[in-house]
Amino acid sequence: MEKVIEIQHLSKSFGTHEVLKDIDFSVQKGEVVCVIGSSGSGKSTLLRCINLLEKPSGGKIIYNGENILDDRHDIHAYRTKLGMVFQQFNLFNNHNVLNNCVVGQVKVMKRRKEEAEKVAIKYLNVVGMDQYVNAKAQQLSGGQKQRVAIARALSMEPDVMLFDEPTSALDPEMVGEVLKVMKDLAKSGLTMLIVTHEMEFAKEVADRVVFMDKGVIVEEGPPEQIFNQPQKERTREFLKRTL
Ligand code: ADP
Ligand code: MG
Repeated sequence: MEKVIEIQHLSKSFGTHEVLKDIDFSVQKGEVVCVIGSSGSGKSTLLRCINLLEKPSGGKIIYNGENILDDRHDIHAYRTKLGMVFQQFNLFNNHNVLNNCVVGQVKVMKRRKEEAEKVAIKYLNVVGMDQYVNAKAQQLSGGQKQRVAIARALSMEPDVMLFDEPTSALDPEMVGEVLKVMKDLAKSGLTMLIVTHEMEFAKEVADRVVFMDKGVIVEEGPPEQIFNQPQKERTREFLKRTL
């Protein structure tokens, strides 16, 4: 199996607060990994370290056989290979849907506008938002905004998609449409690392579930193991509280 990203001994502190402690883990090509755990356990910080929105305090992030935390590494090229979807969408609200999916391609990937538009429409179609190319982002519902945000990330054709609680900011009636899109993407073979509170989704879609608590990976394994036969007391306690 080919590893897309491998993390070794990753640590992150904010001042004296050690938020990630000696994290080892990897994502294989085509794999869907769901990260679960209580609020404050370090899930977002882990994703933010992986895409270098936060600078790790120690450890290695291996991508294409190289430690991208080495000073001489081209961080810019690495970051374009990671698609990120946030809880709060982060769209340009006064731009239309198409432009939201084009800007990054033109600015970062140096694609021509016409080509970028073609690619954007392809992925807006994948998320079922191609009918809305001319709508302003601010006119959309939360679920529609998040689907556009997913199309925007896909338009960069990343090696792996990172999702940080993509449905947590949505009204309950809109959660389903976003999870449906993510399920379809998972089936299509996309490599995905997803922080989520949606346990039913994780059960159904994940190849592997990672349970984090207080900055460490307590347990990881196939969903059947984590949800039906957790090996660790901390995992059992967490699941008792959430399920
Ligand atoms: P989760 O996503 O699992 O809820 P986070 O990664 O957001 O957890 O946060 C883990 C811990 O790190 C929390 O205690 C949080 O307060 C702290 N933390 C996160 N970001 C920062 C920051 N920029 N500065 C200081 N502390 C932070
Ligand atoms: Mg978080």
